Amino acid sequence: MKGILNSGFEFESTELLLKFRFRLLNTCLLVAISFAFLVGLLHDLGLHNTGDFHSKVNYLYSLSSFGLLIWLRQNKQNFKKVSESLILVSLITFTSALIFVVEDQFRIIWFYIAVFLAYTVIGNRAGVITTLVSIAIIVLCFMVFELGFSQVTLQGSLIGLLISSVLASVHVRKIAEFETILLNKNRELEVLATVDGLTGVMNKRMFNEMAAKYLEAAERTEKPLSLLYLDLDFFKKVNDQHGHQVGDIMLIKFTDVVGKCLRKSDLLGRVGGEEFAIVLFETTVDDAAAVAEKIRSRVQESSYQYDNNLVEVTTSIGISHFESGEDTLDTIQKRADKALYQAKNLGRNRVEII
Ligand code: GH3
Ligand code: MG
Ligand code: MG
Repeated sequence: MKGILNSGFEFESTELLLKFRFRLLNTCLLVAISFAFLVGLLHDLGLHNTGDFHSKVNYLYSLSSFGLLIWLRQNKQNFKKVSESLILVSLITFTSALIFVVEDQFRIIWFYIAVFLAYTVIGNRAGVITTLVSIAIIVLCFMVFELGFSQVTLQGSLIGLLISSVLASVHVRKIAEFETILLNKNRELEVLATVDGLTGVMNKRMFNEMAAKYLEAAERTEKPLSLLYLDLDFFKKVNDQHGHQVGDIMLIKFTDVVGKCLRKSDLLGRVGGEEFAIVLFETTVDDAAAVAEKIRSRVQESSYQYDNNLVEVTTSIGISHFESGEDTLDTIQKRADKALYQAKNLGRNRVEII
């Protein structure tokens, strides 16, 4: 049933309103197919007199709704045309009921349903147009045909139709507003879940996810790829001597300096407190060593001054190169980590390759 109401399509988390409209439209189509057929059949069986002509119209309504259901399943983009067509065939059928089923005193109510459907399935413009067309049809039929109800009934039902239309319009506008708020909040949450709050670079989860994708691409295209692990030297001392706040400023400055040494296609992530990682795509180990050396010297040259204090940091860097057909994210990370450990052991503020 779930698949039927979705017309067999999948919907993204950003398409919640469209999904709801698909399900509503499918439900309406199924109701139209079955009930219109049933009403036609009951007439033919002599159980519910709607007149010969209108019973044929009911069969046609059922058949065309079935056609619309099939059409909708062909392509998601057909949604608007199918909705508009359903409103149109519904209005034609309800007009036929208005003219030919004189015994039914409540048949104007079908137009209320058409108006509600237009608002909820398509939107405000379609709702307003359907309201105006419905009013025009009802008034015109009242003037031309003998509908069997008084002027007061006509006026009362038209006022009711107008009020329903206004209420549906307010409701639909609010729903659209809530959807926009929800989508924006979701987008904000997505950013928060992928970005490091202090430095604005990717967090560890996102970095690893993207790095795995880059590795796959390197494997597929046989392009070189290098991984760099960076760790700030004696960073604990910075915090101890200048305070945590200055430590934070140094971390932000560090990512700024590093970012300026990278291309747009490179990945930079914060994988620990004062530990960072970089993926250099389409970069041989020699080029990666040159980039790492540039980063190392730029970090050493950069400094932060506050009051009469000058704060400086250096970084140690470990490099590993992706071996196609052999490496996984885990193995290449382990080598980069080992290279970084070696850089630390050999005196810090240096670049090592494994
Ligand atoms: P090493 O050269 O061996 O890496 O020495 P280190 O002092 O940098 O290494 P250690 O792992 O002992 O200390 C890391 C320090 O980084 C300790 C911690 O307070 C600091 N740190 C981690 N995350 C943050 C942060 O978000 N802000 C600040 N200010 N400091 C941080
Ligand atoms: Mg560390
Ligand atoms: Mg450190």
